[in-house]
Amino acid sequence: MKVLVINAGSSSLKYQLIDMDSEKVMAKGLCERIGIDGSNLQHTNIAKDEKTKIEKPMKDHGDAIQMVIDALVDEKIGVIASMSEIGAVGHRVVHGGEEFAESCVITEAVMKALEKCTPLAPLHNPPNIIGIEACQKIMPDTPMVAVFDTAFHQTMPKKAYMYALPYECYEKYGIRKYGFHGTSHKYVAQKAAELLGKAPSELKIITCHLGNGSSISAVDGGKCVDTSMGFTPLDGVPMGTRTGAMDPAVVTYLINTGMTSKEVDNLMNKQSGVQGISGVSSDFRDLCAASEDGNERAQLALDMFSYQVKRFVGSYAAAMGGVDAIVFTAGVGENDAGVRAAVTEGLEYMGVKIDAGKNSTRGTVDITAEGAKVRTLVIPTNEELMIAIDTKRLVEG
Ligand code: ADP
Repeated sequence: MKVLVINAGSSSLKYQLIDMDSEKVMAKGLCERIGIDGSNLQHTNIAKDEKTKIEKPMKDHGDAIQMVIDALVDEKIGVIASMSEIGAVGHRVVHGGEEFAESCVITEAVMKALEKCTPLAPLHNPPNIIGIEACQKIMPDTPMVAVFDTAFHQTMPKKAYMYALPYECYEKYGIRKYGFHGTSHKYVAQKAAELLGKAPSELKIITCHLGNGSSISAVDGGKCVDTSMGFTPLDGVPMGTRTGAMDPAVVTYLINTGMTSKEVDNLMNKQSGVQGISGVSSDFRDLCAASEDGNERAQLALDMFSYQVKRFVGSYAAAMGGVDAIVFTAGVGENDAGVRAAVTEGLEYMGVKIDAGKNSTRGTVDITAEGAKVRTLVIPTNEELMIAIDTKRLVEG
């Protein structure tokens, strides 16, 4: 089966066509500036290693999906003969609230439940829904599956996901920890079990998805029992431009200084994190370079980041009563050996120790030092493949 994976944003749409026999990507690409001047499609035919950019107006997501299909079946740049070769479509959906604890085949009832989750992710869910509807119009006979960023975390126990606000805040507004990056945490936890040659049910794993946005999860017996992001992706560790957790009283204090809630929201989501601390960049490559040049605030940002990740590792080992493996993934986790070294440094008492030589290699790698009890692994994440795997599984029943 060939599965088309769609990740629709407000003015962009990313896609991959994956051949599930080989689990290999056949084509991938991105539609940018949907509904804005200068819309374009960037398409890559993987087998030919050929990139094509097509500039053409796209007034909405329907136009974008039609262009994607046209590119996929095109004689020159395409990879399939006709649309009927696409066996199913997997859609990434950011927020599934408490409605969705798993991926599911999209039906009318599912679309209604999705609408119900929209207030929880007012910026992200509407474009996801528009993407699904546009796809349904163009491919009415193709089964579609929704895969949620939040679903993997729905197994958290109540003591982990509740906030100590009056209980009515949970009942009335759904305020609780949901967690994000679930598809990535699930994928790398499964891969880690495969690598270790054990069943997920036998393992306690801490997965560290460290990218522009970062989150850490505790996965006990294959199920998520805690995660660092919360009601929104702002919680947890400092990120590229997000604060991560801090005393919530800072918010009211800033508002009392005269800032509007919108300004504070913008400050905490877009101007904070390692960017805000360093004043240099949100990109860890720039921070490393600046720190090597002696920039103290860049080093401080890196130190703060690694320290907070380490704190989550320690607290999740406590929460699970031990840990068998720590997994690093995403842009920073996969590529930044310095961050991995700083996070694991001093955890020998827990049985964690990495090998400096192995830590400097790339790809999927076990970086555990000889004799260490806890395995430390680097596993490149692949959210699109996880979406395609779930899609195929559900469609084939
Ligand atoms: P997103 O959250 O946007 O999906 P990614 O997981 O792709 O992010 O991570 C992007 C981040 O990864 C970049 O901002 C950069 O900080 C970091 N990164 C990418 N490559 C490297 C590298 N070679 N060394 C250190 N950091 C890197």
